[in-house]
Amino acid sequence: MIPQTTLAKIRSIFGSAGFLDSAEDRIAYSYDGTPLLTHLPDAIVIPQSVDQISRLLKLANDEGFGVVPRGSGSGLSGGSIPVENSVVLLTNHWDRIIEIDQNNLSAWVQPGVITAKLHSAVEALGLFYPPDPGSAAICTIGGNVAENAGGLRGLKYGVTKNYVLGMEVVLPNGEVIVTGGKSVKDVAGYSLKDFLIGSEGTLGIITRVLLRLIPKPQFSRTMLAFYSKLSDSAETVSDIIASKITPAALEFLDNTTIRSVEEYAHLGLPTSIDSLLLIEVDGRSAEVEEDAAKIVDICKRHGALEIRIAANEQEATKLRMARKAAFSALARVRPTTILEDATVPRSEVAPMLERINRIASNHNLMFGNFGHAGDGNLHPTCLTDERDANEIHRAELAFGEIFSEAVRLGGTITGEHGVGLAKLKFLEKALGEPAIDMMRKIKEAVDPNGVLNPGKIFSLRPRCEGPLPTNREQIKKFADSGAFT
Ligand SMILES: Cc1cc2nc3c(=O)[nH]c(=O)nc-3n(C[C@H](O)[C@H](O)[C@H](O)COP(=O)(O)OP(=O)(O)OC[C@H]3O[C@@H](n4cnc5c(N)ncnc54)[C@H](O)[C@@H]3O)c2cc1C
Repeated sequence: MIPQTTLAKIRSIFGSAGFLDSAEDRIAYSYDGTPLLTHLPDAIVIPQSVDQISRLLKLANDEGFGVVPRGSGSGLSGGSIPVENSVVLLTNHWDRIIEIDQNNLSAWVQPGVITAKLHSAVEALGLFYPPDPGSAAICTIGGNVAENAGGLRGLKYGVTKNYVLGMEVVLPNGEVIVTGGKSVKDVAGYSLKDFLIGSEGTLGIITRVLLRLIPKPQFSRTMLAFYSKLSDSAETVSDIIASKITPAALEFLDNTTIRSVEEYAHLGLPTSIDSLLLIEVDGRSAEVEEDAAKIVDICKRHGALEIRIAANEQEATKLRMARKAAFSALARVRPTTILEDATVPRSEVAPMLERINRIASNHNLMFGNFGHAGDGNLHPTCLTDERDANEIHRAELAFGEIFSEAVRLGGTITGEHGVGLAKLKFLEKALGEPAIDMMRKIKEAVDPNGVLNPGKIFSLRPRCEGPLPTNREQIKKFADSGAFT
């Protein structure tokens, strides 16, 4: 626990309105979107200025406590879950779009801006901010930059890092820097912004972000193609790419996911099919129509049972819903949903899915699979029950094997959710100890006292063995102790 004398100093920086330490608040900020992981923060702070963050970090270095930045807490690797001796620092209330610069195709935003709110604001001006995580309606730009979030449009448009021009950051020692800017070209020294993107809140607290915008595509076509065999949908994906068409989205759902979505959203999906593809092309009208016609041909050639093409934006939204509802729909099937993002080169999607199904069956587990087939970023999702310790143990073993397979096929343990707490024990498998050692040295150089988001990405120990850290018992004891009113 952080000593009371130190907590009093933290409170004096933020004032009573910016400092929370009630039992209710501590429990509310003890978890994020990741199942099985929780830890109570000692307090939560709500900054009103960059200077307050600077002063907090200086105090953290002097008195030895951790500071955990947090946006919306929708992360799926436990990045914003505190570890012992830490305060959670919120940035989600800093939610202002500061400037949209149409001449320089850029926008300065505060870190708490909700991604979908930015989409709407720029699209109203004929501009486009492509990164669109499935959580766009709830996640923040700060969280997206810290995780280098991907999304459905990643195949054609890339991920968050492709749209970050600059940022203002408070470094772990409390100093403030602005790195990057509106110049399209800038090679003055190391690109610190690129170093900070995807650093999961371990190297700096983002207080403003400068984002690149592009002109909004004029036209789009959205379709669903249904298949009776996984190999047919996989060959469709390969053939679309080989035909030199780059769809804006090329997404995959397996039968378990399709059935769950249909039960949840009632979209009229056939529940007996093996898999479906959601395909979207965008751009200029003539080019889109030509690509859409070619894609329909390719789908038919690979045995598509049916192809549904949206006639208008309303229908397109309904077709997209089949994919967007996947996580929520699967989450209703069993009490605990462990969603991962094992990623392989796209040519290995079909073999990887076969291996995931085999591993699930060997461990007698229920899995739903969906994901970004076009860029090989799969979401094997274990539908389980955390009250069954044996089943959770089997799920752990299964994910260990899935990550090994992904790495063996030339892929990685995470394509977009980050390492956080959930995957630090698999990191060595993906990167090898020398690479992790180099990352640790960078962290030590920037944050020698380890005050910023401690315990994330790589554990303080060289290896973290055993099951995932879970602190449900801690929360239960705390709630039962009477502290919780
Ligand atoms: C239904 C659902 C669908 C999802 N779909 C996708 C998807 O398609 N693609 C994808 O990439 N992710 C997806 N995610 C995961 C998640 O939404 C993203 O990782 C998102 O970027 C997290 O944003 P957040 O604001 O919730 O951040 P948080 O969860 O609060 O934090 C995430 C990390 O960012 C750090 N952080 C947050 N704010 C700051 C800041 N201001 N400065 C420094 N560090 C900061 C935190 O310390 C933490 O390490 C999904 C999650 C859900 C629940």
